[in-house]
Amino acid sequence: MAKRDYYEILGVARGSTDEEIKKAYRKVALKYHPDRNPGNAEAEAKFKEASEAYAVLSDKAKRSQYDQFGHVPEGMGGGPGEPGFGGFGDIFGDIFSDFFGGPRAGGGRQARRGADLQYNMEISFMEAAFGHSTEVNIPRLETCDQCGGLGAKSSRDVEVCPVCQGSGQQRIQQGFFSVATTCSRCRGEGRIIRTPCPKCHGDGRLRQTRRIRVTIPAGVDSGARLKLNGEGEHGTNGAPPGDLYIAISVKPHPFFERDRFDVYCEIPVTFVQAALGTDIVVPTLEGKVELKIPAGTQSGRQFRMPRKGIPQLRGGSRGDQYVRVIVEIPTNLNDRQRELLREFGEAGDETRRKEENYPLKNRFVERFKDLFK
Ligand SMILES: [Zn+2]
Ligand SMILES: [Zn+2]
Repeated sequence: MAKRDYYEILGVARGSTDEEIKKAYRKVALKYHPDRNPGNAEAEAKFKEASEAYAVLSDKAKRSQYDQFGHVPEGMGGGPGEPGFGGFGDIFGDIFSDFFGGPRAGGGRQARRGADLQYNMEISFMEAAFGHSTEVNIPRLETCDQCGGLGAKSSRDVEVCPVCQGSGQQRIQQGFFSVATTCSRCRGEGRIIRTPCPKCHGDGRLRQTRRIRVTIPAGVDSGARLKLNGEGEHGTNGAPPGDLYIAISVKPHPFFERDRFDVYCEIPVTFVQAALGTDIVVPTLEGKVELKIPAGTQSGRQFRMPRKGIPQLRGGSRGDQYVRVIVEIPTNLNDRQRELLREFGEAGDETRRKEENYPLKNRFVERFKDLFK
């Protein structure tokens, strides 16, 4: 394919000054830069074409040679041929260094902090109440032990990226703004590896599964997140590691429910126990405890057992336990029980005024009467 004239590509006259050529190139390069035209092959070809033209016209010797002889045929020395990205980079760096202050100072491979990780952990009600220590397997990226994170077989196999001079960034003018983009040659690494490390294949990090001890403090609840500083993924190029978060969810308990640090449970009692009063055995977090149910206890009444709840996360105090008594009405009565209950129902009338036995029912009856007066 015949090559287009370099002056034509940049849209300048043959006698243009260096400054005019530079300005023209900048305009074309910005228009067709791959970062602004992702996936556009035509733009990429135009961009390369312009870069090649500029490589020649900005070089005094090459320009005068081109002016006299035109394009150098392929395969002959001296001509720019197809500039690789390296060739383009030098031009790019040169031209933009004038406009935008050049590549970022103090280059070097980009150091990135390791990613944070989250591990979802389900623990039992008791483990949440009193704390728990366990070990978990965490898959994470760790610095390669063979190359120490370098990514290369040896330090001699690494060179500074010629495009960005190690900064990992290129600057592009967009309208009035200068925008930094990731270097297209080294993809922001700032360096190029000639022979990658055989163990990590150049990544500098390896996926490892690490056993990590997790200590859960007493009093945690579902939704809590514990942070293990520095136990996330390792950073690149000496950057600090990320953190590991342990997200807690607490399994339900067959007896207990929880509201912050208080524990709730329901205990069924017979209507005889509730009427006569009794001592019942109540499960607590630390074993069985007797609780006195006074005579005449109504269904749903709640008893508080101080400091039988969950230890508070901060501070030595503890929550309380609340016991809700549910009075159970007997079912499947036998003949004798039925007989006794009938007798019981009638006996009330003889020994006491009904309203003393059933104040609640009595109040209701009174109001009911008032309603239909
Ligand atoms: Zn680079
Ligand atoms: Zn390695």
